[in-house]
Amino acid sequence: MMQNSEIKYLISEITRELDARCDGAGKNLISRCPYCKKEGKFGIYIGKETDKKKLFMANCFSCGMSTRTLEQLLTAIGREDLILTPVANIGSGISESLFKLEDEEGIDDTLGVVRLPDFYKRQFFHPYLKSRGFIFDDYEYFPVGTTGKLNRRFLDYVIFPVMDNGDTVGYVSRYTWSKKEIDQYNRKAKYKGDFQILRFRNSRENDFVKLLYNYDAIVEGETEVVILVEGIFDVIALTRKLELYDNTRVGVVATFGKKISQTQIYKIQSKGVSTVVIGYDGDAVEAIKRTSQELSRYFHVFIADISDPSKDWEDLSEEEIYRTFTYRIKTPVEYSITKIQQ
Ligand SMILES: [Zn+2]
Repeated sequence: MMQNSEIKYLISEITRELDARCDGAGKNLISRCPYCKKEGKFGIYIGKETDKKKLFMANCFSCGMSTRTLEQLLTAIGREDLILTPVANIGSGISESLFKLEDEEGIDDTLGVVRLPDFYKRQFFHPYLKSRGFIFDDYEYFPVGTTGKLNRRFLDYVIFPVMDNGDTVGYVSRYTWSKKEIDQYNRKAKYKGDFQILRFRNSRENDFVKLLYNYDAIVEGETEVVILVEGIFDVIALTRKLELYDNTRVGVVATFGKKISQTQIYKIQSKGVSTVVIGYDGDAVEAIKRTSQELSRYFHVFIADISDPSKDWEDLSEEEIYRTFTYRIKTPVEYSITKIQQ
């Protein structure tokens, strides 16, 4: 067992050696990768130890190289002098255990700028969005537009640009009928051999696992808490109902589904966020458990446990949302226990 003073000394030496900084949750040192030399992609775990997470485990978000022990790490950064206990066979295990994360190609967070559909025009009112509860501020803070008849491919869609650092890196287009209406129409259309309506028509250039909706709402040095939700309409509904429009301490972002990728984790971590609250739909129990496990390595993690599994943030009233964030915020362990009991 290492003593606290030894751990502190090692952390300070490693920090100096790599010119590292601490992430928002104080759980990882972030630095240049000793393998691929990419800046800000190498994370060294310095949080509390658990079964899976050991002190000084490290991995690179860019090239995927990782080290499991302190000795391997110190060797990788050329500071063998700091290895505390002389181990006889120190050289033997190193090369084989410097493994590449298996099904991981390494993190590539580069994104190309995407052109919005031809004739896209921003809108500040739309009957379909009004029916989904949009108010003036929503149009102001969450740009949305249509193409009109000039671009028939997008006729009857509303188009939400996905922004990243001020650039358009994708878009999500939603057909302006409810899911039920679309399903009904498609059933008849199938019978008659007509074209099906696609509920979504999204950009294809950048993979959505690299994107987060409302990412620019996370402000480095200001945003401490990020609430993760599944989709664009969840982001907007939650922002409206919790009145978070101008709140830079709390940001709501969508992962486009019930899971989070390594790139998305990296993007949030790199802005110094300390706490993530998972706000996926109530029926996503297994997905929530898995996501909370993955996130715990990088953030303080909580789950906003929606009591009615059939509802999402759009369906809930302000009062119900307020109660969820007041009485139903759970740690991953608490969440797992309540879900076993149910
Ligand atoms: Zn690397």
